[in-house]
Amino acid sequence: MNFQKNILLKNYSNYKIGGPAKYFIEVTSAEELKEVFRQAPFDAVQGKQDKIAILGGGTNILISDQGFDGLVIHNKIGGIERSEDNVIAGSGVLIKELLDFCIENSLSGLEWAGGLPGTLGGAVRGNAGAFKGETKDNIVEVKSLGLKNNSAMQNEKIRNKKECKFSYRDSIFKSGEASVEFIISVTLNLRPGDKEEIRKSIQQKIDYRNLKHPMNYPNIGSIFKNIPLDSLQKQLQEKFLPYVKTDPFLVVPTTKLLALSGLKGRRCKGAMISDKHPNFIVNVDSASEKDIRALIKIAKETIRKRYGIPLEEEIIYLPR
Ligand SMILES: Cc1cc2nc3c(=O)[nH]c(=O)nc-3n(C[C@H](O)[C@H](O)[C@H](O)COP(=O)(O)OP(=O)(O)OC[C@H]3O[C@@H](n4cnc5c(N)ncnc54)[C@H](O)[C@@H]3O)c2cc1C
Repeated sequence: MNFQKNILLKNYSNYKIGGPAKYFIEVTSAEELKEVFRQAPFDAVQGKQDKIAILGGGTNILISDQGFDGLVIHNKIGGIERSEDNVIAGSGVLIKELLDFCIENSLSGLEWAGGLPGTLGGAVRGNAGAFKGETKDNIVEVKSLGLKNNSAMQNEKIRNKKECKFSYRDSIFKSGEASVEFIISVTLNLRPGDKEEIRKSIQQKIDYRNLKHPMNYPNIGSIFKNIPLDSLQKQLQEKFLPYVKTDPFLVVPTTKLLALSGLKGRRCKGAMISDKHPNFIVNVDSASEKDIRALIKIAKETIRKRYGIPLEEEIIYLPR
């Protein structure tokens, strides 16, 4: 197996940020992944789950300037096939590829994901959502592999939707008992639809994103989760009522709070709180992880002081 050494992770990050991985390997199939677990030959990794990290599209992850002192597995497990009413796709399939497949095969149900970057595996783990839809809406079952070396074969699991314990930007694979598992493939429930309607609906979401998001700079999407309306005191609920949106339940958009707090355009060296969409912190000029973290800290402190609301990151840190 081709275990590479000292591979610069910024080249695999949508942020263009991140130091080297001690070891790095790309997997294109479940079989290869099992082989990686069997063969990972170095003391630094064997048996230590915190020394193994999974990288999908790198669109939701802030990687340390120091890199990762372990093995990074870059997921390229592809393949999309139809099985009766369902579609089974490899976890490394990009959402864009999946949507192209849906259009090609006149399959409806995933239109909400138009313009969502990253892989299917990443979307399942974080229950990615947009435009009132969430990844969980389309899930039948998820196949995963435990990240325990030598016993990888015994650790293959199939969970139905309920067992995946999906909630707002969360699942059993993110914060539950399966957080050390590698999602291999996903069975999705879609329905026949009108090809042109599906294409149009997806394109509308892409156009909306291009209009609203700061796509001219490297970014990893929204930094913070939105704030569930019912988590706020009555007085704040009333104050923010004009901004409330459905995501898929009622939330106060964090971007609004950041804008109201005068944080648009706030900079720390090469990083900037976007003035177009302040829940995005953009890499305007060779930003480091430290610059991004400094702005995250400022945003959290400002919102806590001003409104008493604790912001919670939606993004993932590597290492955690
Ligand atoms: C411009 C832009 C817009 C965005 N808009 C949205 C949005 O509307 N809604 C939304 O929810 N998100 C959004 N995001 C965030 C991001 O695109 C999603 O969270 C996406 O699903 C992440 O997928 P990924 O493959 O890039 O994951 P990565 O960033 O590579 O990884 C994220 C986490 O998932 C883990 N992971 C990845 N693959 C697997 C796997 N196969 N098995 C187990 N764990 C895995 C990684 O270890 C890491 O912890 C946006 C990002 C950008 C850049």
